[in-house]
Amino acid sequence: MLGVIGAGTMGNGIAQTFAAHGHDVTMIDADAAAAERGRAAIEKSLGRFVKKEKMTRDEAATILARVTTSTDYGTLAGADLVVEAVIEDLAVKRSVFGRLDEVVQEDAILATNTSSIWITEIAAATKRADKVIGMHFMNPVPLMKLIEVIRGHDTSDETTQRVFALAEGLGKVPVEVNDSPGFVSNRVLMPMLNEAIFCLYEGVGTAEAIDTVMKLGMAHPMGPLALADFVGLDVCLAILEVLHKDLGDDKYRPCPLLRKMVMAGHLGRKTGRGFYEY
Ligand code: NAD
Repeated sequence: MLGVIGAGTMGNGIAQTFAAHGHDVTMIDADAAAAERGRAAIEKSLGRFVKKEKMTRDEAATILARVTTSTDYGTLAGADLVVEAVIEDLAVKRSVFGRLDEVVQEDAILATNTSSIWITEIAAATKRADKVIGMHFMNPVPLMKLIEVIRGHDTSDETTQRVFALAEGLGKVPVEVNDSPGFVSNRVLMPMLNEAIFCLYEGVGTAEAIDTVMKLGMAHPMGPLALADFVGLDVCLAILEVLHKDLGDDKYRPCPLLRKMVMAGHLGRKTGRGFYEY
């Protein structure tokens, strides 16, 4: 059995992907209503696969039946691996890992889907730092091929090999990188999104102009502002703050417009309003 902590955008996508590849999954959220919303999101996503004739109704029902939701960490005692996908906040993640370390069997791997926080610092909240690793899935999880696998200071070779085998069994391509703020993916992506927000803030172009330049000119499938809305503006801000603080370079300074939009509660797709309306 595999476990997922956090039933939000990423957590429910990860749980769906595990279940679609034959694993029984327990998905935990601190909030029972959020856990149920996560399960409903999986059902909706599977429905889209059925509609596109990529799976049958029966297959979708079998996959959904493999997903159990709960608010009780104790249900993860027998898990072989747990992926944490709660909010991007070091203190919250450290407390989740401390609890997991107490309840989950000794041999289990504890993975985090963090976008930017040091794996080493999360691992230090446990007594099994050799079994703590970054397993950074991409959004939307059921469709995206990459898993960025991040080794903390004490992550063992065995843990890394087990995670590679799991990732390959999910039909994904794991890529190993070292522990550093934002790893490779967000170290490269977030400054680009931030720069696009600065272009809007300084009136260099409209949101549509900025996104069209990057789509048609650079062959990006999505413009940077649409992508920021998709990721969640709160998530983007949290990642940029980690890059800024931990790399100590002002080139990572979050754009004031991004800060203001997060303060206003305009977080992108998930709230219906970001750089665009949904
Ligand atoms: P989200 O806000 O959609 O979901 C977070 C969920 O965690 C919520 O349902 C919340 O109720 C739950 N939660 C909060 N504290 C908890 C706790 N202590 N125990 C159990 N559940 C708790 O966030 P998300 O976009 O799914 O992001 C989750 C993680 O994945 C973050 O670390 C983020 O940086 C990372 N990530 C996000 C993306 C993306 O595109 N959104 C991509 C890759 C990685």
